[in-house]
Amino acid sequence: MRTQVAIIGAGPAGMFLAHLLRRHDIDAVVIERRDRAYVEGRVRAGVLEQVTVDLMHRLGLAERLVREGLVHGGTNLALDGEVFRIDMAALTGGSTVTVYGQQEVMRDLFDAAQADGLAIVWNAADVTLAGLDGDRPTVTWREQGEARTLDCDFVVGCDGFHGVSRGAIPEDVRKTFERVYPFGWLGILADVPPADHELIYANHERGFALASMRSPTRSRYYIQCGVDEDVADWPDERFWDELCVRLGPAAAAKVTRGPSFEKTIAPLRSFVTEPMRWGRLFLAGDAAHIVPPTGAKGMNLAVSDVTMLGEAFVDHYRDRSDAGIDGYSARALARVWKAERFSWWFTSVTHRFPTMDGFDRRIQMAELDYIRGSQAAQRTLAENYVGLPLSPA
Ligand SMILES: Cc1cc2nc3c(=O)[nH]c(=O)nc-3n(C[C@H](O)[C@H](O)[C@H](O)COP(=O)(O)OP(=O)(O)OC[C@H]3O[C@@H](n4cnc5c(N)ncnc54)[C@H](O)[C@@H]3O)c2cc1C
Repeated sequence: MRTQVAIIGAGPAGMFLAHLLRRHDIDAVVIERRDRAYVEGRVRAGVLEQVTVDLMHRLGLAERLVREGLVHGGTNLALDGEVFRIDMAALTGGSTVTVYGQQEVMRDLFDAAQADGLAIVWNAADVTLAGLDGDRPTVTWREQGEARTLDCDFVVGCDGFHGVSRGAIPEDVRKTFERVYPFGWLGILADVPPADHELIYANHERGFALASMRSPTRSRYYIQCGVDEDVADWPDERFWDELCVRLGPAAAAKVTRGPSFEKTIAPLRSFVTEPMRWGRLFLAGDAAHIVPPTGAKGMNLAVSDVTMLGEAFVDHYRDRSDAGIDGYSARALARVWKAERFSWWFTSVTHRFPTMDGFDRRIQMAELDYIRGSQAAQRTLAENYVGLPLSPA
């Protein structure tokens, strides 16, 4: 088997890239370790930046997004129970974010892939990359016990944090940068109306809480918890009680309680690997970087990476220019590090750290109070939250 671009992983990064390449008649094959139901079923991101929404429109994938997505022109912060709103649209010249679950994005990507006949290999076991520093890379895997080989011009590792691609870059070339946070997020989904039509990020002395949603009838709530805690210790009533304390009385009065149908604890981490290209291997999305979910940047970064990489492949195949390919790593990392900074900062000012003393707590409260009173501070937050523009080529 032969193709131009082999894409490892059918998550958001891999599938957006496959659609982008198809629009420019560049051949690609996506090789995925799991099946469609697994990838589509993972409950993860929910807030789309304008960059992501724009790409879905360009790819003709936005029909359901326009119908069902919830456009947010603002977001709320709560400081020890007192809620204030940041008018993101007014502060950024009209930019917004759209709440539309990653599961819905994946469904749209897979439905369109099926209709367009995009090549996806499901349930590929033992994926192995070879020849990445030469002219003829290969990808091998096992499919129902049979060995398969794909020859290609380039390999793109879109296989997430636990994939194989990042490890194919030699250790003496690869640099990693990491922060592991001393807490996690306990998240639930419940079919009850959300507390507010926009998100509420709450800093409370007992810890962080987030009121979010997936639709007008489905709520997504999170509270900061210990990484080693067991979800079994968090029956629904305990979760709702703690959430309401942290959101404060005004927001808590608008919380509708109901049975949760999903409850998980996610660890928080910041991670970047450099470079994002080695020989004929490119990394995109979570394969190269992780952000804590506070800034809602993970999936959006995956999309901005592959948007830049897609442009680079078009330059290579259509215009015979390798400038985009050669500049990809630096260009992508410039945006990645800004999103890393924002996600780290937003996590730092909204969470309770175990080592925090009275001084740290007052500095944190002063920072949030400063945001409440300063248009300049609000604009900085809003500009980062709605998503920075793609780095120039
Ligand atoms: C609780 C939570 C909340 C989040 N909230 C947000 C949010 O609001 N906004 C946001 O933008 N982001 C958010 N994120 C992050 C977002 O979900 C990820 O950043 C996004 O899924 C990254 O996409 P990806 O395609 O790079 O990687 P992934 O989604 O991890 O996809 C990788 C794919 O590669 C496959 N794979 C792995 N190994 C192999 C292999 N060896 N061979 C072949 N295939 C392989 C996997 O099965 C998977 O399908 C959140 C994440 C979590 C956990």
